Amino acid sequence: MEMDPVEYVERLHAVVDQLVEPLTDHHASRLQCKRGCFGCCSDGLSVFGVEAELIRRKFPEVLREQPGPEGMCAFLDAEGGCRVYAHRPYVCRTQGLPLRWGYEQDGEVLEGRDICPLNADGKPIEELSPEELWTIGPFEHRLAEAQAAFGACTEACCDREDLRSLFEPPTP
Ligand code: SF4
Repeated sequence: MEMDPVEYVERLHAVVDQLVEPLTDHHASRLQCKRGCFGCCSDGLSVFGVEAELIRRKFPEVLREQPGPEGMCAFLDAEGGCRVYAHRPYVCRTQGLPLRWGYEQDGEVLEGRDICPLNADGKPIEELSPEELWTIGPFEHRLAEAQAAFGACTEACCDREDLRSLFEPPTP
């Protein structure tokens, strides 16, 4: 990878946003996602180190603030907004949409589908065409490639980092 892997991830996020936008428009009548709804902002989310590094570079001041209380994502603010929204990880950019993914079982490739229960009203997701869902897999693969390049050029050894662990410990 010629480009800085962290810049690559930033561009990858922009591509994800471009692809998510028409899907979001398509499902506008069922999507309840809005600022202040943080049902999918769980505690314990982890991201590739290369995405953690993007947050470190873009939001050093946020990482010196207090993390949010345990039980929900440490980046939530008091109003339920995301303090790193502009550079939030990939996984946060597709939540809420109807999702599909492939998996193997007994030698067969099967398809799983899911959607946030708050967005379930509307056409059953089983009846949607594949193009109407976000496919999990291709972008995770590209993130993994960026992570491999990041690890090679920075000697960062851990693949994934817990979002809460990015906050700087309080000074004694
Ligand atoms: S980083 Fe932001 S969008 Fe992602 S889980 Fe945390 S608060 Fe939610």
